[in-house]
Amino acid sequence: MSATHVNSYYAATANDATRYPALAGTVKTDVCVVGGGFSGIATAMSLAERGYRVAVIEARRIGWGASGRNGGQLIAGISGEHRIESQLGDAGRKLLTDIRYLGHDIIERRVTQHQIRCDLKHGWMEVATRPRHFEIMQDYVEERRAAGDGEQLDLVAARDMERVIGTRLYHGAMVDPRSGHLHPLNLCLGEARAAAASGVKIYEESPVTEVVGGAKPYAATAEGRVEANAIVLAGFLDPVFQTGPLNGLLFPTGSYIVATEPLPEALADEISPRDLAAADSNVVLDYFRLSADRRLLFGGRCNYSNRDPSDIRETLRPRMLEVFPQLDGFGLDFAWGGKIDIVLTRVPAIGRREPNVYYMQGYCGHGVNTTHIAGEIVAEAISGTMEKFDLFEKIRHVRLPVGQWVGNQMLALGMLYYRLRDLL
Ligand SMILES: Cc1cc2nc3c(=O)[nH]c(=O)nc-3n(C[C@H](O)[C@H](O)[C@H](O)COP(=O)(O)OP(=O)(O)OC[C@H]3O[C@@H](n4cnc5c(N)ncnc54)[C@H](O)[C@@H]3O)c2cc1C
Repeated sequence: MSATHVNSYYAATANDATRYPALAGTVKTDVCVVGGGFSGIATAMSLAERGYRVAVIEARRIGWGASGRNGGQLIAGISGEHRIESQLGDAGRKLLTDIRYLGHDIIERRVTQHQIRCDLKHGWMEVATRPRHFEIMQDYVEERRAAGDGEQLDLVAARDMERVIGTRLYHGAMVDPRSGHLHPLNLCLGEARAAAASGVKIYEESPVTEVVGGAKPYAATAEGRVEANAIVLAGFLDPVFQTGPLNGLLFPTGSYIVATEPLPEALADEISPRDLAAADSNVVLDYFRLSADRRLLFGGRCNYSNRDPSDIRETLRPRMLEVFPQLDGFGLDFAWGGKIDIVLTRVPAIGRREPNVYYMQGYCGHGVNTTHIAGEIVAEAISGTMEKFDLFEKIRHVRLPVGQWVGNQMLALGMLYYRLRDLL
């Protein structure tokens, strides 16, 4: 088990080297959180803000998983919104309005309050890969405005795209100035440091091997255990914890990012004149943005076999050059990947495995804000306010308890189907 972060642009520019001890012996606390990514740290913070004593147990390092590797795009709303509306009706629509920017607000508040240096910037857009997708964006903006919640959204027609991006590939865009981008590893490390300063006990290099609910809940590692009144399974953990309602729920799939060398200022300005993060409108999508030191971070899925590609640079480079041919000849200094936790309904799975064992996972690649929303909702539930939590628990998820191998083959096929549909 490696305790270093994956070799990435983020690890190379991490600004916090704090190490936390491994768990040893027995610790008693109010809530034990398993997993030290955004889900775990955000939940711990939301609980600590409510006066709970909390311990976080992380198998490797804080931010080791998807939280320290992602595209850093802070996107409004959550995955699977149409499913929430169709299953929950008006209550679902109200929930979505209530939480749409909740993750943004929590992150912005904590960044300011704890002076977390994570290159947080406002401005994100979805770019249309088909004229039809731009029409859908126009309808969506109209709906949001009619609901009194979309005044800030801006539509950019195809002919005006050079205002926002240095390529002619797209058929329009929807810009959300309240969304944005950030350095995810530095956010996660900074939040962990703030959590520790507020009294949260954090343990690294401590893989949890057993989680027991019931009358005396605890989570155990080889060297110790944390006894608590409630346990939170935070994020996509080892498959051994995917039991009960989690069985057959989650299908992890790879997503990959390359970082160019720092670009000359004029070229960086041409590519991204307003420094917006961007995601395209395909289901199997490309996403990209500039880093603080003016590299292009370009991400997407490399293949449909659900196996890691042998050479991430060489598989992502042609896609990147299709969007920005002007980058031909520039080096790719970093290439890395991570796992996105897909649930078939697309709605994040927030619920309870047992009455006092909570879980939160399945953000479908839309987790920077949603982890913070989920952390707040689970903390509310633990402190007795069940309104939002109950709505998530009501969602009927699709489960395929077919074993991980078969599940992965099915997911690969599904992804291929969507990729072909995107291309047609
Ligand atoms: C390449 C990539 C790009 C992405 N881009 C974006 C983006 O631009 N915007 C966006 O919103 N979302 C994005 N996502 C999704 C987002 O990163 C995730 O949804 C989010 O980080 C999930 O956070 P988490 O804390 O739930 O999981 P993780 O960050 O994976 O954390 C789970 C933690 O649990 C630990 N763990 C596992 N098993 C155990 C155990 N037995 N005991 C103790 N600890 C354990 C792991 O080591 C890990 O640190 C991307 C994901 C990837 C992979």
